[in-house]
Amino acid sequence: MEIIIDPDSGFCFGVRKAIQLAEEQLVDGELTCLGEMVHNEAEVARLETMGMKTFLPEKEKKIPSGRVLIRAHGEPPETYERLKKAGAEIIDATCPIVLKLQQKIKEIYKEESARNTQILIFGKPGHPEVIGLNGQTNYSALVIADESDFVKIDFNRPAHIFSQTTMDAEAYQKLANQLSALFSAHRQNLKVHPSSCRQVSGRVEGLRNFAKAVDVVVFVSGKNSSNGKALYEVCSSVNPRSFKISVPEEIDAGWFSGMRSCGISGATSTPPWLLAQVAEAIKRITT
Ligand code: SF4
Repeated sequence: MEIIIDPDSGFCFGVRKAIQLAEEQLVDGELTCLGEMVHNEAEVARLETMGMKTFLPEKEKKIPSGRVLIRAHGEPPETYERLKKAGAEIIDATCPIVLKLQQKIKEIYKEESARNTQILIFGKPGHPEVIGLNGQTNYSALVIADESDFVKIDFNRPAHIFSQTTMDAEAYQKLANQLSALFSAHRQNLKVHPSSCRQVSGRVEGLRNFAKAVDVVVFVSGKNSSNGKALYEVCSSVNPRSFKISVPEEIDAGWFSGMRSCGISGATSTPPWLLAQVAEAIKRITT
């Protein structure tokens, strides 16, 4: 069976930059990452063997001091304040695209608050990037995951909408069109800001073609990766023989029976070394 690794898979530039910074900083000694460095358990484990500690705010109360790394997702303003108070040295690996979006939301929030304008964020509630974005509005923005959240919106007031960077661009466009029609019906304006990241949306067309061209797709992604979920759905929409795994141990030999080609792809947080390990494991199973 032919095994092909998607040439467009691997880390996005924001994650690559953050990991590179972490590796450089680890040479100088102890480093704590605020939350999981990436939504990929295997890559987190690799960095931990290099000495990185992971601080999980949902499990530990006391904010760390020492050298603390802010990951690519970014953080809300109060995190910086809390870290400064704790005497931490901040190593900021926020992705420049996320940082720019945070600044834009903050700017609109400041400009528009006197006009009673609402800020909407299309994203996953509780996702660290969404918390960082909403923090720019003092948590006054409404997080819209899907149509069921439309009840939260006051259609008699104007609004701005932004998307979490890793949300599916087509789904954002569809939702924004629905909302624009509803605001127009109430004679109000909705300003739609295109903020899906091209590192994710730019992969959709290529991934669709890649998934169509093979008999079976093995998609490798961390369990908590939003873009992993979205990109896997792209594969399964065109190839029903698409399977999602997070580690090679989850591969099922039965997937390849009678198949002539297998494509391996992954999320923007899936390390290339893990894709290579998956390819090796499939090769061992099928030869
Ligand atoms: S997906 Fe885009 S916005 Fe998110 S970390 Fe990667 S490059 Fe940055």
